[in-house]
Amino acid sequence: MDLKGKFNTVFFDADDTLWENEQFFRNAEAQFAQLLADYTSPEGVQQMLWQKQEDNIPLFGYGSKTYMIGMTDAAMDLCGGNLPEHIYYGVKKIITELAFHEFEFIEGVKETLEALQGRYKLIVATKGDLTEQMHKYRISGLADYFHHCEVMENKDEKNYLELAEKNDMDPEQILMIGNSVKSDIAPVVNIGGTAIHTPHEVVWVHEMMDMPQSDRIIEVQDIKEILKYLL
Ligand SMILES: [Mg+2]
Repeated sequence: MDLKGKFNTVFFDADDTLWENEQFFRNAEAQFAQLLADYTSPEGVQQMLWQKQEDNIPLFGYGSKTYMIGMTDAAMDLCGGNLPEHIYYGVKKIITELAFHEFEFIEGVKETLEALQGRYKLIVATKGDLTEQMHKYRISGLADYFHHCEVMENKDEKNYLELAEKNDMDPEQILMIGNSVKSDIAPVVNIGGTAIHTPHEVVWVHEMMDMPQSDRIIEVQDIKEILKYLL
């Protein structure tokens, strides 16, 4: 599929598309399992944590603060209703480290953005906690390449229709680049847009989904490969 000349604007997901993210959450979960090792197996901790995270995301959205609530809820259950002080503060320490982890670009991001800059209007379209995502966007220095950063409440079809409207575009004019089939690919093609999937080796269970069938989806191996379709 040739995309040249078809789009004026390119939207980029941020977590695990522009910068590393999921590995830090996996690391936090491993530390949490370690903290609760006296109560149950690592698999038992993980199972309880997934359940509590799924319960809390619809209420509090995405990001490390919601993870803090999910971990505290999971720990409370696993400790039989008596949460020891060292477990509570252990959770808080894990989450603080998660929220302020070292920033790391995905390989090839800067070169790709440099090549696209000036030829397309580039916009970050991420979901998550507003404070955390804007902090990462600012320290990344990527504001030099992007028109602006949208922190979306979620990334379903409704949210993408709102994104199009907000940017004075028809849904068919959306070109989205991202690593998550569920958040960056499926909803975009379902409303008539086009998507390029840049896979990341670590995928959050919450984001797992089979790739839909569409001639408006392109799969690449890494972010640099998108230039082949856009330049
Ligand atoms: Mg992502």
